[in-house]
Amino acid sequence: MVGMGGGESLDVDGRRIAITNLAKVLYPATGTRKFEVIDYYTRIADVMLPHLAGRPITRKRWPNGVESAPFFEKDLPSSAPEWLARYAEQHSQRVITYPLATSRADLVWFAQMAALELHTPQWRVPNPDDGPPKADRLVLDLDPGPNVSLSQCAEVALMIRDMLSGAGLTAFPVTSGGKGMHLYARFERPVSPDSARTVARQIATSLAATHPDSITATMTKAVREGKVFIDWSQNSGSKTTLAPYSLRGREQPWVAAPRTWSELTEPNLRQLLFHEVLERVDADGDPLADLDLPHPGETAEPSINPVVS
Ligand code: ATP
Ligand code: MN
Ligand code: MN
Repeated sequence: MVGMGGGESLDVDGRRIAITNLAKVLYPATGTRKFEVIDYYTRIADVMLPHLAGRPITRKRWPNGVESAPFFEKDLPSSAPEWLARYAEQHSQRVITYPLATSRADLVWFAQMAALELHTPQWRVPNPDDGPPKADRLVLDLDPGPNVSLSQCAEVALMIRDMLSGAGLTAFPVTSGGKGMHLYARFERPVSPDSARTVARQIATSLAATHPDSITATMTKAVREGKVFIDWSQNSGSKTTLAPYSLRGREQPWVAAPRTWSELTEPNLRQLLFHEVLERVDADGDPLADLDLPHPGETAEPSINPVVS
């Protein structure tokens, strides 16, 4: 249960979280306040957490609301609650300690930090003896160029769905809450991030070759006018993509929203706001439920790295 505790704190399933500025407006265009953001993450937690499980979380924070400058945060601050699970990643010069999300309280703590956006890689923290991380999902980031609609992105998503299905993979579409879409597919047997990236690049370059007027697989901004850019590079082990069900720090509280294939072909396809996503989940559950089921040998609770100090 989420309830107001004494003073400025919330009790979330037995975790006490210090809360500040609950009434602060974070989205001036809609008047959306911080407590509504906290409420959203509280209510979406059950369907969102399986997609975050075991994935180090990069937060994009807007402490002064979406009309002020945001910043990315990877390392956990020393003020983080001790109950947060974490993953220490060794870099050549230093260690980055990321939080993992395992509970509703974790999401409330992120929201308290005005971490409107949660970003993750496409791999999960491996068990200690399992070697380097493996990608358990493929992602394709579909970016509409200038003068390209979300519906045109959806047309490309349908083409990719057919290609993936030919390879025995099921595709799951998510509108990004920004301009475009993200398309995911589960690897029944996880692969190296480099292999995932190669698969994604092949899909992108072959579709760009057969549809040169409407699709591009190259990053160059100049060639994107009138086309959908299939960004295959997000599969790299070092890259992150906005997590499904994350809010956006854009003008309005849009969400990275799982969609059905049939609605993608409807006219007036548009991005969804947080209350719309909550209503859908209450009515129909999680359309992405089959994307992130645990793999054999994977523990439901990720292993927690010791804190490196
Ligand atoms: P849109 O639909 O508007 O493209 P998007 O979230 O897909 O929204 P992109 O610019 O295509 O935005 O970026 C794809 C992903 O790459 C983001 O979700 C984010 O996780 C990651 N990303 C982009 N820019 C940065 C950055 N400067 N630092 C870290 N990660 C980034
Ligand atoms: Mn994108
Ligand atoms: Mn992109």
